[in-house]
Amino acid sequence: MIKSFFNENKIIYEENPSLKKYNTYRLDAKCKYLVFPKDELELINILKEIKKDNLKYLMLGNGSNTIFKNDYYDGIIIKLDRLNKITYNSNYVTAEAGCSLMKLSLDLIKHGLSGLEFGAAIPGDVGASTAMNAGAYTHDMAEVVDKVRVLDKDLNIKEFTNSELEFEYRDSYLKKHPEYIVISTTFKLTRGDRNAMSELISTRRVKRLATQPLDKPSAGSVFRNPEGMFAGELIEKCGLKGYKIGGAEVSKKHANFIINSGNAKGEDIVKLIEEIKKIVKKEYNVDLVLEQIIVE
Ligand SMILES: Cc1cc2nc3c(=O)[nH]c(=O)nc-3n(C[C@H](O)[C@H](O)[C@H](O)COP(=O)(O)OP(=O)(O)OC[C@H]3O[C@@H](n4cnc5c(N)ncnc54)[C@H](O)[C@@H]3O)c2cc1C
Repeated sequence: MIKSFFNENKIIYEENPSLKKYNTYRLDAKCKYLVFPKDELELINILKEIKKDNLKYLMLGNGSNTIFKNDYYDGIIIKLDRLNKITYNSNYVTAEAGCSLMKLSLDLIKHGLSGLEFGAAIPGDVGASTAMNAGAYTHDMAEVVDKVRVLDKDLNIKEFTNSELEFEYRDSYLKKHPEYIVISTTFKLTRGDRNAMSELISTRRVKRLATQPLDKPSAGSVFRNPEGMFAGELIEKCGLKGYKIGGAEVSKKHANFIINSGNAKGEDIVKLIEEIKKIVKKEYNVDLVLEQIIVE
C-alpha cells in the first residue's frame, strides 16, 4: 500500500488534506494523498510505486492555473515545493521545478540578470510555467529557456533543448505531453541594470493592481486571447461582467477573470466557463479556448 511505502521511507505526505491553500481559486477540494518529495531520487521512487500499483496521480505547482472540478480528487497529488534550488553559472541559471517564478524573477534582479522580469507577475512555479510557456507583456518562457530536465513516463531522465520544446503561445511540447515531468529549467539571461529592472516590475505591478482583481481568488486569465482580439473585451461586450453561477463570478474589474466570490465550487467555475463560451460563440462566432486546466 502506498501509505506504508510513504511511512517506511519517511516521505512527507498528508492524508485526505484540503487543497484550499494549494490552489489560487481557493477551492476547498480534497485529495487522497498529497506528497512532498525531498529530491529528484525520492520523486522517482514515489512515481515507481505509483506506477507499480497503477494509481491515479497529478503534478501540482502553485495551483494558479488549475480548477479542481470535483470536491474530491481520488488520487495522489505530488508537489515539488522542496525541489526549489537555484544554481547560478554566469548568465545561465538553473531553477528546480518547485521554485516560485516570482521569487526567481526577483532573485535574478539581485544578481543583475535580465530576461525574466515578466515572471514577477506570474504566481506559478518554474515547472508548470515552463510547460505552460507562461508569459506576460509580450514576453514568455520560450525567450529565456535554454534547456529543461524532465522525467519521461518510464522515469528516465531526459533533456530538452529550447527548439525541441516547440514553444507556442501558452503551449509547448511538454504541455501536449503531460506524461513528462519537469525537474528543472535552465535559463539563459543577459546582464541588466538592477534599478531599471526593479522599476519596471513596480510600474507593471501598479498597473495590474488597477486593472485585475488581484484581491480576489482567481487563476488569472481564463481564456487565451483569440488572434487579434482580447477575450476580456469580447466577454465584456456580451454584458457578462458580474455574471454569476453559484460562487463563481465574472470579475467586474476584468472580464477575462473568474473570481471565487465566496464558497465557489469547481463545478460552478466549469459551468460558468461553458456559459461564457456559449454566449461569446453566439454573439461573435468566436470559439474561446480555455487557458486554465480542469482536473477531474
Ligand atoms: C493573479 C494571477 C495572474 C496570472 N497572470 C498570468 C500571466 O500574466 N501570464 C501567464 O502565463 N499566466 C498567468 N497566470 C496563470 C498561472 O500563474 C500560470 O499559468 C502559471 O505558469 C501556472 O503555474 P502553477 O505552478 O501555478 O501551475 P499549476 O496550476 O499548479 O499546474 C498547471 C499545470 O502544470 C502541470 N504541472 C505542474 N507541475 C509540473 C511539472 N513539474 N512538470 C510538468 N507539469 C507540471 C499541472 O499538472 C497542471 O496541468 C496568473 C494566475 C493568477 C492567479
